[in-house]
Amino acid sequence: MRIQRLPENIVNQIAAGEVLERPAAAIKELIENSLDAGARQIDIEIADGGRSLLAVHDDGQGMDAENLALAVERHATSKLPECDLSDIQSRGFRGEALAAIGAVARMQIISRLRGAANANVIQVNGGNIAAAEPAARAQGTSVVVQEIFYATPARLKFLKTTGAETSAIREMVERQALAAPQAAFRLQIDGKAAMDYPAPDLAEENSARARVQQVMGQNFMENAREVLAEKDRMTLAGWVSLPTHHRATSARQFFIINGRVVKDKLLLGAVRGAYGDLLPSGRHAELVLWLELPPSEVDVNVHPAKTEVRFRDSTAVRNMIVSAIRRTLLEVAQTTSNTLSAQAFGRFQSAPQLNAAFQQPMGLFEQDPSARYDSIEESTHDDWQEKFPLGAARAQLHENYIVAQTHDGLILIDQHAAHERLVYEKLKQNLLSGEVPAQQLLIPEVVELPASACNALLAQAEALNQLGLVIEAFGNGAVMVRATPALLGEVNCQKLLRDLGDAIADQTHDADLLRNHLEAVASTMACHGSVRSGRRLNAAEMNSLLREMEETPNSGQCNHGRPTYIELKLADIEKLFARR
Ligand code: ADP
Ligand code: MG
Repeated sequence: MRIQRLPENIVNQIAAGEVLERPAAAIKELIENSLDAGARQIDIEIADGGRSLLAVHDDGQGMDAENLALAVERHATSKLPECDLSDIQSRGFRGEALAAIGAVARMQIISRLRGAANANVIQVNGGNIAAAEPAARAQGTSVVVQEIFYATPARLKFLKTTGAETSAIREMVERQALAAPQAAFRLQIDGKAAMDYPAPDLAEENSARARVQQVMGQNFMENAREVLAEKDRMTLAGWVSLPTHHRATSARQFFIINGRVVKDKLLLGAVRGAYGDLLPSGRHAELVLWLELPPSEVDVNVHPAKTEVRFRDSTAVRNMIVSAIRRTLLEVAQTTSNTLSAQAFGRFQSAPQLNAAFQQPMGLFEQDPSARYDSIEESTHDDWQEKFPLGAARAQLHENYIVAQTHDGLILIDQHAAHERLVYEKLKQNLLSGEVPAQQLLIPEVVELPASACNALLAQAEALNQLGLVIEAFGNGAVMVRATPALLGEVNCQKLLRDLGDAIADQTHDADLLRNHLEAVASTMACHGSVRSGRRLNAAEMNSLLREMEETPNSGQCNHGRPTYIELKLADIEKLFARR
């Protein structure tokens, strides 16, 4: 068989297979070109999920006729003037996007170079390039792509529904808009305006913040905190959601490295590590993070679509992200998600029967002042707030909710959730110090369990031992419990072991690692040792719970990620009664 060189057009179609997975990928390439050309206004149009039409119009610096002809050729780029791959300053550099699109679609580019007297147009159909001709247009470039993949029917078949392709394009535009807060973006879907992100006011101090708000929405802003960090020659900035605000997938985690939108496992992993057990399992934070570092520190030439990157020092990058997010979360650990109180507040307004519950004397405890409680009463209002942000307990409702008064509002605490967190944090602390006091049982208890659960538990006997739970094998289908963690008080061994068996079986065994594992076990244990709802507490007990919460990290939520308390401000209560 004779070896032959592939014709240019086939080479381009092969490249298109890698660069242009779907219409959204073409949109990405075109927007990146516009941004590289310094555009401030980018208008995107699509029809039929991008299949029949996708077009990007910009007001960038444009091209003259000669460059227009070069632009559609493969491996032709204006972006590597020194031909140095270790110093990439632009989004593009491979010089293949336009050639690839032209090879698989009908593409028309109209462009007018800044300061030129007229525009030019060039047409490429399935790789056939026509000569450039004069045309009319203001400064900038329009790339109009029709019938993408018509020349590669195999690819066409793999496109998803119009709805799915459209939402992939929307998401791509959102990502690019986050990557370039200085530019305005508009998206038209099937002739209708679908997105409009005006360029932030130049007077606006923080244009990034304005853009995050446009893309992520007000609700995210209210439930997110700013992250800022600088180390060596790296800077990290962005907004991350509070642990009480989470989603089913990581799709709303946006990473921008040196102006380039990336999807990278290392970064996703760093975020997971940073939130750790603050999020319920299987839930994900929302965030936008910009990372800037010298181009020589990061290799963007890993994949043709340039969405993956490789860091020279990935440990440093990971550490920076983890510690910056952790620091921010720790600062707000006592704050609970605002949406939750807003939602609850909305319910106050809409459910009169809830108000009625407050009028019933039921559950109001008789005052039983303790020394500690007295000291709160006697403090002046100002140090109240400082010393005891969770206020003074006033009542217990429905045997699970503690009502506390603060100087400017009231706080409702879910006693079970709160106590669970406290026990969990203590178990974790004990774990760190290597000392989890165990309480020997007077009479060891035999617990019968399915064989698989027995085996799972016994396989972890040593780890459980570290947590103060001492078990050993007891024939077939049973284990013997000799000691339980002292922190838990009196526990139902049967239930505890059953739940632990489940928790351990659920763990994926890539064992990330003993620590996570033990935390999951500690979390299950904490749930067993907590004051379950339904137990009456006296004033002293309630107040000591509040004081402990104030001193415990992450006490704003239980270890399943639910909030432990919500706060209503006096000002809001006054609004409810139309006093304001
Ligand atoms: P790359 O972006 O990797 O250079 P492309 O095929 O995407 O490769 O583009 C080829 C060249 O065409 C670019 O280097 C640039 O000079 C020019 N070009 C593409 N799009 C635009 C645009 N919107 N405005 C100005 N010039 C553009
Ligand atoms: Mg490009």
